[in-house]
Amino acid sequence: MAGGGISFLSSRLWDQYKNNRLSFPDLPDLAELSTFKTAADITPSEIASMPSVNIDDIPDPNGPGIVVAPENDLEDGFKHTERVVDVDTIDELQEDEVNFYLEKIRNFDGDFPGDVYLSEINQLLLQPTIDRLERVQRFIGHGNFNLIAFDEMLYFARNYEEIGEFDPAELAFMEEIFFNDATEYGFFGEKVNPQLTHRINQNEVEKIGGSGHYLLKGDSLNQYQLIHKDVGEKLLLTSGIRNVVKQMHLFLSKTRQSNGNLSKASRSLAPPGYSFHGIGDFDVGKIGLGEANFTIDFSNTEEFKRLITLGYVDIRYTDTNRYGVRYEPWHIKII
Ligand SMILES: [Zn+2]
Repeated sequence: MAGGGISFLSSRLWDQYKNNRLSFPDLPDLAELSTFKTAADITPSEIASMPSVNIDDIPDPNGPGIVVAPENDLEDGFKHTERVVDVDTIDELQEDEVNFYLEKIRNFDGDFPGDVYLSEINQLLLQPTIDRLERVQRFIGHGNFNLIAFDEMLYFARNYEEIGEFDPAELAFMEEIFFNDATEYGFFGEKVNPQLTHRINQNEVEKIGGSGHYLLKGDSLNQYQLIHKDVGEKLLLTSGIRNVVKQMHLFLSKTRQSNGNLSKASRSLAPPGYSFHGIGDFDVGKIGLGEANFTIDFSNTEEFKRLITLGYVDIRYTDTNRYGVRYEPWHIKII
């Protein structure tokens, strides 16, 4: 089967899942799962033909592919101004502080004075916690990992030796990351998803063929379908709805890339609970552009130009956004 729609599910989980259906009422519908392949079923040529756009393909910011977006690199006419400003904190800054703020979000991969770092003990917990989250992801599949709730994750970890129960220190670490006040990092977005154990109702999401990602039915799905129709077949969903566990994994991975600098991590990625992906925003990219979909390169594609001339699309993180986040031309604002 060419393209996506393939989710990795270990055959052992598949058997257990079929036999214990009633104990996982919130996991994907069995009929839908039966169309998934297990990792063992997928041939190398199928893997080669999968879309190259995927949230898991976020480039290493220290690698050669990343481009920092200074203001003068952004094409005139393709900047997108926010329509609503609802964060007060930035308005209290003095002019030189505003300049420092803009310098930080335009050079999001730099280290700056005042950046907040992981404590020494949490530095030690970072790698084992990421490792265990990745074992969960491998075990339940990438698609399901977008949706799984925190307590569902704990269930799998407790019951499957392939994952292994979370150490109390790892749990405490993740809780601390979740409940930290992100404004201390310099991230000014609101906590849109304040519940660590937030669940996503399977009936309220739809899997987007070819992407491996899901969208909330209603505004998100409708807007994506409209954009897809208006921009064309080359535009694809690169990340849809993400629950707390998925965001935790992304944020901790970004923190590791940032050598424990939580402020630097939050300039590229919302901390768990603060991601608008949790309530309806989504990312789009161009098929074939691969990792560059998550760089400034996306804003130079015909697809992006078409996207923003449609007139009904808002970009969440503009080049002068007030969230403390880098410019993300690929991130569509829904809420
Ligand atoms: Zn996004």
